[in-house]
Amino acid sequence: MFVPSALAVDPNPSYQDKGDFYLTYEPTYYYQEFEDWLKFEQYFESQIPFLNETFKLPYDVEILIAECNESNAFYFDREIKICYELIHETDERFADYFVRVYGDNWTTEELNYSVINVIENTLYHELGHALVDIYQLPITGPHESVADQFAGFILLEFPYEDDPTNSIGQDAMRDTAIDYWLAAEKNPDLTQTAFADTHALNQQRFYDLACWAYGYDPDYNQYMIDEDWIPENRLQWCSWEYYDSVYAWNILLAPFYKDEILGDYWEWQGWTYEYLHKLQSQMQSSSESSDIPQSVTEEGMPKVPDWVRNIFIWYGEEKISEDELLNAIKFLVSQGIIKVSP
Ligand SMILES: [Zn+2]
Repeated sequence: MFVPSALAVDPNPSYQDKGDFYLTYEPTYYYQEFEDWLKFEQYFESQIPFLNETFKLPYDVEILIAECNESNAFYFDREIKICYELIHETDERFADYFVRVYGDNWTTEELNYSVINVIENTLYHELGHALVDIYQLPITGPHESVADQFAGFILLEFPYEDDPTNSIGQDAMRDTAIDYWLAAEKNPDLTQTAFADTHALNQQRFYDLACWAYGYDPDYNQYMIDEDWIPENRLQWCSWEYYDSVYAWNILLAPFYKDEILGDYWEWQGWTYEYLHKLQSQMQSSSESSDIPQSVTEEGMPKVPDWVRNIFIWYGEEKISEDELLNAIKFLVSQGIIKVSP
């Protein structure tokens, strides 16, 4: 796993957590049955505590479920808005698709599962826009592609507690990919406007999402090869693409994760508690002697903090892998703790 090892304790304790995500259902005239259904499923209600346990916020951010007079979702000025029209349209598209593929042989539960999966991807795509804005994250790709990458990162790297193999997250990537494919089928004649759009083409978003899910777990997603979802010339990049984005998100978001989740998170990433505990106590003792990041010895050379030295010792003792060592070094460079001359 491409994980910066040195993040096992709160890397930015000074970033104040002053706000929370909160959920609002705007009264709806046309979509009461969708509001009732969403409340029955408790989907958004279940995401709010996860979000608030995971991210520090400088102010409150609303997640609003509302009628918008268009099929869309937005982030603007401290508000994520998911439109009933979008949920309705997704529901219809998937019902048609199920009939086409399975005939009568499908259940409402299966349909609901797929629709919730697409809603999940939509929510996290919008959250990607939100966090780029709120944290002023530096990005260099198109905003829409970055938001898609963020949704993939959250869906695949943060499994639900009762789903350790993360089949739900992977299914959500699959269903959203299918949804883009279906949307593309509905509008087969690409216009200049489509090529000029801030979003990649629906077909491209299909390949992106499928590719990242495949990169995350080729075994679970073997059907993507068997059923010719992804051509060979793209397939070979999927794992690299996906973990490259995980690496970037971990560094970008590290200062804004809540302290409490970091332990759990690194454990999901394969860390042992023993390692984590060692790293934490090392960081604590070195910060008490305040030699992070730029203390200087009498000879005028920067002193290497104990916990940095220990990363190398553990590597020598084969307690951490080469990837872990390299990522620790990358992190130290990115934080200015190690300086590399140009
Ligand atoms: Zn967007």
